[in-house]
Amino acid sequence: MSRIILHMDMDAFYASVEVHDDPSLAGKPLIIGALPSERGVVSTCSYEARPYGVRSGMSIKEAYRLCPNGIYMHGHYHRYHEVSDQVHEILLSYTDQIEFIALDEGYLDITGSIRLFGPPEKIGLEIKKRVLNATGLTCSVGIGYNKMTAKLGSEEKKPDGFFIFDSPEHFQSITKERPVRILPGVGVKGAARLASFGIQTVGDLRSWSRQRLEKTFGEFGSDLYLHCRGYGSDHVSRLGEGEAKSIGKEVTYQRDMQDPEEMHSTLKLLASSVSDHLKRHEFYASTVTLKIKYNDLSLHTRSKTLDNPVRSSHDLYQISLALLNQAPLKKPVRLLGISGSHFTTTPIYQYSLDEDEKRIDPEKQEKVEKALDQLSARFGKGVIQTAGEMDSKRILKEKGLL
Ligand SMILES: [Mg+2]
Repeated sequence: MSRIILHMDMDAFYASVEVHDDPSLAGKPLIIGALPSERGVVSTCSYEARPYGVRSGMSIKEAYRLCPNGIYMHGHYHRYHEVSDQVHEILLSYTDQIEFIALDEGYLDITGSIRLFGPPEKIGLEIKKRVLNATGLTCSVGIGYNKMTAKLGSEEKKPDGFFIFDSPEHFQSITKERPVRILPGVGVKGAARLASFGIQTVGDLRSWSRQRLEKTFGEFGSDLYLHCRGYGSDHVSRLGEGEAKSIGKEVTYQRDMQDPEEMHSTLKLLASSVSDHLKRHEFYASTVTLKIKYNDLSLHTRSKTLDNPVRSSHDLYQISLALLNQAPLKKPVRLLGISGSHFTTTPIYQYSLDEDEKRIDPEKQEKVEKALDQLSARFGKGVIQTAGEMDSKRILKEKGLL
C-alpha cells in the first residue's frame, strides 16, 4: 500500500518570527545572520529581500551589495527554538512517525493517522490552522505518496501553501515544464551539466531512457530517472529511531578526580572530539551540554543554548568550561561529557580563517582519541564511551533533502 507523507515547512521562519515579535519590520527586506560590517552569512531573509537576489547561505557582504536598504540583524535563537517546540508539539499529536529535518521543517507519515484524524486534506489544513493559532505564523504543507512529492508539495504554493500530489501521473503532469532544479540532488552544477545535454525541464529528462541516463550520469542518472517520474523514498523513521539528536563524547574515570587542571584538559580533548564529529556531519550545535557524574553516581547536567551555533573545538571548550565553572564541584568527579544538539547546517557567523573551516584532520583526530585513552588510563582502567554515535550515512542522506 502506498504511504501518505506530509511535509510541513514554516514560511521564512526566522524572519517571520522577527516580524511577529516586532511588527514594525513587516513588509521590509529583512536579512538575518550578521550586520553588514561583520563577516557572516545570510541565515534567512524575508520574502521582501528575495527579489533583490538575496538567498540563504550567501555572504552578508554579497547580500549588502544586492540589498543595501535591507534591515540586517542577528538571529534570536532562543525564540526560534521556543516556536519550533510549539510546532513540533502540534505535529507530534498526529504521529510519532516523524522526522524533524530542521527547526522549522519535518516529514510525517500520516498513513496510520487517517483512521483517527480524517482524510489527508483535513489533517494538512488542520495543521496549518493549529500552527497559525499557536504561533501567529504561517507554514506550508505538502502531501504526497513519498518524501519528494510531499516536499515539492509544500513548495508548490509557498508561502501559506497547501498542495497534494496524489499519484506519479499527477506529479508528471504538473512538473513537465518545470526546471530540473526542483528535483532533489540537482544543484546549480548538476543543472548546468544537464543543460549541456539539452535537458532543461523535468519533461526533457523523462524523454531519456534509463539506460542512457545511467550511461551518461552514473548513479546520479538512475536517481534522475526515478525522480523525474515522481518515484522516491517513502520511509519516515519513528521518532528517536536512528535520528541524530545529539553528538557527544564522554570519559568515565575508574577513580575519583578533583584536580581542576585535569578536568580542564579532559574538556579540551572532549571538545576537540565533539568538534570533529560535528564537522564530519556538517553540523553546528546551537546547544552545548556538559555532563558531570560524581563519585556517588549523582548526575549534574547543564546546557547553554547559543545565539550563534558553534562547532570549533575552541568554542566548545570555552562554553563547557564556563558550564563547569558554574557547577557545584563539591564532590569528586567520575565522568565528564560534552555534547552538542539542536543542529543547524548554516552558521550565523562564518569565520573563514577559523579552524572551523578546515577539514577534519584524521591524524589530529587520532591523536585526540589516543590522548583520551591515555587520560582515562591514568585514572585506572578507563572506559571511553561515545554517546550518541550516529550512522553518518543516514544523516547525510537526510541532509540531501534539505
Ligand atoms: Mg522553512
